Amino acid sequence: MKFAAFIHNSKTCLGRLVENDAFLERFDVSESTIEQDGVVSLIDRPLPDITAKIPVSDVELLAPIPRPRRNIFCVGKNYYAHAEEFAASGFDSSAAKGAVPEAPIVFSKLPETVEATGNSIRLDSAVTNTVDYEAELAVIIGKAGRNISKEEAMSYVWGYTIVNDVTSRDLQGYHSQWLIGKSQDSFCPMGPWAVTADEIDLADTTVKCWVNGDLRQDSNTGLLIFDVPTIIAAISNGITLNPGDVIATGTPAGVGIGFNPPKYLAAGDIVKIEIEGIGTLENPVEDI
Ligand code: MG
Repeated sequence: MKFAAFIHNSKTCLGRLVENDAFLERFDVSESTIEQDGVVSLIDRPLPDITAKIPVSDVELLAPIPRPRRNIFCVGKNYYAHAEEFAASGFDSSAAKGAVPEAPIVFSKLPETVEATGNSIRLDSAVTNTVDYEAELAVIIGKAGRNISKEEAMSYVWGYTIVNDVTSRDLQGYHSQWLIGKSQDSFCPMGPWAVTADEIDLADTTVKCWVNGDLRQDSNTGLLIFDVPTIIAAISNGITLNPGDVIATGTPAGVGIGFNPPKYLAAGDIVKIEIEGIGTLENPVEDI
């Protein structure tokens, strides 16, 4: 199933997509619950009553988790070809240890970076002019756990969504730690909605990204260096994962710094990410 948070007639709503994603069945859920937790409020409970059926074209989609309760976990350098292109770019403060990591590289993005599909990625040229896109499959955790084994890890996955792990390359390199370069305001477009875990085959799901219609990234989750069970086992090693935690699994090759000269984002660009079985996340780039 696919679930979306959205605004309809000025009311914050939650619903299920039906009829080839053309309509939303609106659930009976309070607005205050949706504004923070979005689809997370559906975890571990029977589906709420349906109160209306609304064309998707009549709503404004929100991010499926509009304001995550804590930072979004992210995995760096998790596709071989991207690990090579990033190490070669000169911005990789971890490159001394080799292009391909021996253990998952995990960093985080602030919850306030999340933006819905359609919202702008905001460029502040007084801060950075090296803003890049990263198409990623994101895991939504469905139950609490600590020291989760790889064998049990998939039972902790509730669903998936798409994240654009937007990055300032100069800030990422300058600060060595990646949080500032990854957590600039508006740097985590998420959506367009969430799908339940049964909808995605992690061994074979395509991940694509276009900038202004130019196909830049074209890969498959079957090519992850560290697969989802390995990532969950690594992050939960001494850290309790909670329902609603989001883990972005890393981006494939074809980001802007993979080109010579680099192809950074500029005002007026449109970044479109499509992950098979989920949908399309599309965000314009705007100067502020
Ligand atoms: Mg990334």
